[in-house]
Amino acid sequence: MHRPLRLTIDAKAIQSNWRWLADYAGVPAGAAVKADGYGLGARETTEALIAAGCRDFFVSTWAEAEALGNLPDDVSLVVLYGVGADDVEAAARLRARPCLNSAEQVARWKQIAPGRACDVMVDTGMNRLGLRPTEIDVVNDLVIDTLHSHLACADEDDPLNEMQLERFRAVASAVWAKRYAFANSAGIGLGREYSFDLVRPGISIYGGIQRSEFEGNIRQVARVEAQIVQRRTIPEGESCGYGATFVAKEDTEAAILNIGYADGYLRGFSSHGSAFAGEFALPVLGRVSMDLIAVGVDAAPGLKEGDWVEIDYDLPSASKQSGLSQYELLTTLGSRFERVWK
Ligand SMILES: *Cc1c(COP(=O)(O)O)cnc(C)c1O
Repeated sequence: MHRPLRLTIDAKAIQSNWRWLADYAGVPAGAAVKADGYGLGARETTEALIAAGCRDFFVSTWAEAEALGNLPDDVSLVVLYGVGADDVEAAARLRARPCLNSAEQVARWKQIAPGRACDVMVDTGMNRLGLRPTEIDVVNDLVIDTLHSHLACADEDDPLNEMQLERFRAVASAVWAKRYAFANSAGIGLGREYSFDLVRPGISIYGGIQRSEFEGNIRQVARVEAQIVQRRTIPEGESCGYGATFVAKEDTEAAILNIGYADGYLRGFSSHGSAFAGEFALPVLGRVSMDLIAVGVDAAPGLKEGDWVEIDYDLPSASKQSGLSQYELLTTLGSRFERVWK
């Protein structure tokens, strides 16, 4: 069946972004592929990155681990949420390692799989997941593959970054693990003292630019194109769309495109988003509907019903337009796209 909406995902850009992040960090890089690979496809992303040399993958839940299917023996997969009381069966059956976050999870893992390797998360100041440094002694008889912590503000130059670094160094010197890992994408931009043995980028693999260090080095991965359903002239003084928020100051040429908030093109793009026809920018006119938007096409007289236009979905610029984070832009993309991997 024909779909009037297309999401093109560039596997080469995923590989090139991952390589750049590993080079910048100066240590091996893993990859966060949770939330179905940030909405783009966990399985395809994982395959592309295994081909590029990545050997460490991170998901949130056991269901996500299972959905990835069989991975090569030398590839490791970690479940970041650890093992809850309802995960015991899955954790015993699947090959993935849990990243243990609490004393309860540590005790549970010792019962499920005594002697089997796990990861451990230490909370160094984010107060989300992880053991407090003061309770870290409970991990003493575990076989720890990787000891992790996670930065709260790595995309900003916040004093908390260095405080967390100091706390993590202290824990890392007291707890034996095969490897230590600290930095997400933005953390890599903070410099190599944040790299330890392994970094855990996510968003920047998918084109996210969290810090100025990444500009010009991280490539756009996902492109959104929509087909024109109808072209029309909005007469001077008339409005377009719900709420009549756009009123034409003069006769205005508009193209109605097959994309809306049900596809993840959320209402923050109303009157702020933009599409392209060649080098011309086509502004979103008025409100985003569930399935449709209108864009002004005065600059592109040749565009007609059935033509495709590219929506500006470059993550930093789409984030400014919509007020959404670069993470939200990817993870809210809907199911109506024809997804094309190239
Ligand atoms: C999601 C996640 C990452 C990846 O973060 P990005 O900001 O997307 O690079 C790394 N570490 C942990 C613990 C995570 O939950």
